[in-house]
Amino acid sequence: ATLIKERVPMLSVQPKGKQKGCAGCNRKIKDRYLLKALDKYWHEDCLKCACCDCRLGEVGSTLYTKANLILCRRDYLRLFGTTGNCAACSKLIPAFEMVMRARDNVYHLDCFACQLCNQRFCVGDKFFLKNNMILCQMDYEEGQLNGSFETQVQ
Ligand SMILES: [Zn+2]
Ligand SMILES: [Zn+2]
Ligand SMILES: [Zn+2]
Ligand SMILES: [Zn+2]
Repeated sequence: ATLIKERVPMLSVQPKGKQKGCAGCNRKIKDRYLLKALDKYWHEDCLKCACCDCRLGEVGSTLYTKANLILCRRDYLRLFGTTGNCAACSKLIPAFEMVMRARDNVYHLDCFACQLCNQRFCVGDKFFLKNNMILCQMDYEEGQLNGSFETQVQ
């Protein structure tokens, strides 16, 4: 599904003639004002976010639709936004996924493991970042000992 991002227009006055049907509740809009969004007409109260029910008809709000859902910006970002690229597998991480962070890097939970021995870390475990690699304490100390982390200067 393609994302449609649309600035919700301000209320407009009901055009003369036939009353419009509301795309939210399917009833006729008898109010003097109505909202027009996504080429449909809405009651002020009917154009709302499918997740948090907040009204999207406020002046200046932006409406997001994806997969037939109408969402506010916050919920859209939560559901479909991204946190960034995983520093280990370089795939995008959706915003709703739990991530691990180390300095400026983000990681999938599954990707957050020592990149030499694949050991996973539990809360409180020590991990090290060296040359942008996640390392467990053992591998880090071993690397320190034989100097394999020093950048070679030619
Ligand atoms: Zn309605
Ligand atoms: Zn919402
Ligand atoms: Zn990853
Ligand atoms: Zn390790």
